Amino acid sequence: MQNLTVLGTGVLGSQIIFQAAYSGKTVVAYDLNDEILGALPARWEYLKPLYLRDLPDATPEKLDAAVARIRTSSDLADAVKDADIIIEAVPERLDIKQQTWEQVAALAPEKTIFCTNSSTLLPSDIAPFTGRPEKFLALHFANEVWAKNTGEVMGHAGTDPEVFEQVAQFAEEIGMVPIRIHKEQPGYVLNSLLVPFLNAASGLLVRGVATPEDIDRTWKIATGAPMGPFEIYDVVGMMTPYTLGKDSDDPEQREFAEYIKREYIDKGYLGKGSGRGFYSY
Ligand code: NAD
Repeated sequence: MQNLTVLGTGVLGSQIIFQAAYSGKTVVAYDLNDEILGALPARWEYLKPLYLRDLPDATPEKLDAAVARIRTSSDLADAVKDADIIIEAVPERLDIKQQTWEQVAALAPEKTIFCTNSSTLLPSDIAPFTGRPEKFLALHFANEVWAKNTGEVMGHAGTDPEVFEQVAQFAEEIGMVPIRIHKEQPGYVLNSLLVPFLNAASGLLVRGVATPEDIDRTWKIATGAPMGPFEIYDVVGMMTPYTLGKDSDDPEQREFAEYIKREYIDKGYLGKGSGRGFYSY
């Protein structure tokens, strides 16, 4: 599959576009209007040094060639007309996804495979709106796709197994390590592991069992892992656990949310991106 169209050019969409173009694919970037699409050149300039930093074989020439393989369009019919595969990265709301896929279903050629990058919705939630459920599944990327290159491939019960394999193959062609998920699973593999792990760590902290430093040290020394849970919290940023924790049913998670607001967020310590979180950077 050579021709990719990406719907939505935000945080993840722009990374998927650039990564696929870098891997030699011909990419159409679709968003709601030309003003939004006009921000993309600055985005490519932001990504280029990160590729040069993180990928040993990246060169300025290869990065310029990637940009040359990207075309933008705010006309949906035009954007999807030659697509072998479409990856949707529009906001994480079922109504927006529904509306987007209903429009695409009416416009895309019959051959086109449809993928969603949704983090929390299941393929079976969206499949009814695609008009071709057998050719619909999730291909889920992690933030910083060029370096954190898992491509979690997850269908729903009605996904054609051949289409599933084609998408796993495509993921590999654009530099991802395909992770084949054989059953629908909220959170895919990564967040099914990571969320309970981080919750266990914050539970130890709010119960006063051990400091973040000692919890991280234990995990790293005893398992050989490069990062402990509080170092991971710093990479994720404080706002995500705060937003999820403050309305949680779990009293420990609510207490953790209050704690990080009081001790970190209110002082401007938002995690690694801000220079300080549980640790200083
Ligand atoms: P974002 O808000 O940064 O970007 C969304 C983009 O979609 C914007 O450019 C917006 O203009 C555009 N958009 C809005 N309505 C649209 C429509 N009707 N048609 C086309 N484009 C539309 O969001 P994001 O963080 O890139 O997330 C997008 C998807 O990727 C979500 O499903 C999210 O769950 C998933 N995801 C995000 C991350 C992450 O770390 N941010 C990681 C993995 C997966």
